[in-house]
Amino acid sequence: MKNIILTGDRPTGNLHLGHYVGSLKKRVELQEEGNFDRFYIMVADTQALTDNANNIDKVKNNLIQVVIDYISAGIDPNKVTIFIQSRVPELAEMTTYFMNLVTLSRLQRNPTIKEEIKHRGFENSLPIGFINYPVSQAADILAFGATIVPVGEDQLPMIEQTNEILNSFNYTYKPKEEIFAKPKAIIPQDKICGRLPGLDGKVKMSKSAGNAIYLCDDEATVKQKIMSAYTDPDHIRVNDPGKLEGNIVFAYLDAFANDAHFEKYLPEYKNLDELKAHYTRGGLGDVKVKLFLNNVINELLTPIRKRREECLKHINELYEMLFENSLIASAHARETLNKMKDAMGLNYEKLLNN
Ligand code: ATP
Ligand code: MG
Repeated sequence: MKNIILTGDRPTGNLHLGHYVGSLKKRVELQEEGNFDRFYIMVADTQALTDNANNIDKVKNNLIQVVIDYISAGIDPNKVTIFIQSRVPELAEMTTYFMNLVTLSRLQRNPTIKEEIKHRGFENSLPIGFINYPVSQAADILAFGATIVPVGEDQLPMIEQTNEILNSFNYTYKPKEEIFAKPKAIIPQDKICGRLPGLDGKVKMSKSAGNAIYLCDDEATVKQKIMSAYTDPDHIRVNDPGKLEGNIVFAYLDAFANDAHFEKYLPEYKNLDELKAHYTRGGLGDVKVKLFLNNVINELLTPIRKRREECLKHINELYEMLFENSLIASAHARETLNKMKDAMGLNYEKLLNN
């Protein structure tokens, strides 16, 4: 069986630390392992429009930003095929056929969609395209025969939906040979990385919620964001015992800090367990913990910022690479679509008498 990796992001803003630990880091690891026949990363502009129909500039301007973020985070465009969703029209046609295999009530039960509808205030003004995006995501995955989909935890219901569509298609149209590969999500083993919370401590870090530390934030911005991050509201004096639950600074340390960071920036503690113990028994101030976190995050972001500077000099080449790759993706999706239409009996040419 072929190993095909597919993943993507909506161009609704720059990528942030949640993307990094939730998916980007894994993508770079998979890329370096090299155990794949093809590795696609899709910039999901069509999907971004499902809740930004009247915000086209946002989607348009962020497309190249997301690509710059990929490369800055270590994605190598020579190894990975980065392409634009709207340049692969086959995906839209596949979505149309798949829509007939999914009920509205099934889409309404999707827990990620439920949360997103609430968050966007879509209760009484829900765009059809938005509630339908898990179906279009199934098309994205099935079109390329993706076997591995590295994503954050919020995407698990989408992979489940994709598998249901795959089964339903096979049951309904009984293709003579297997058309689709069975996709498997890879989510981070660490729970905190699968859904990194936002700086406000409430929901997940997300572009749309304005609660993110972005990979492109400069040092001063990162510091300002970390210093104002939500901790424990009852930890008022240094000597007060502090709580770890819901404490964003410790959540980020869980996701990003390792023992080497302690040796380098805070040698009076061996590891995070020691720091946590001190914080919970009292006598450790938030500022000290925040400054440590600031060092850890900047160590991660410094090389990313440097690569970003380089990328900014090659914007035209990046666009050209995207256009070319989208043609490759389109040809691949066309093969799958033709097989689907064959199974569905939409190959009317076969009805012609010779
Ligand atoms: P939007 O708010 O526009 O939906 P987003 O920040 O949720 O943007 P997406 O483009 O929807 O980002 O998600 C891209 C990928 O990043 C998905 O695999 C998703 O699971 C992952 N991801 C997004 N936010 C987080 C997070 N806070 N923690 C872990 N993974 C995340
Ligand atoms: Mg999202």
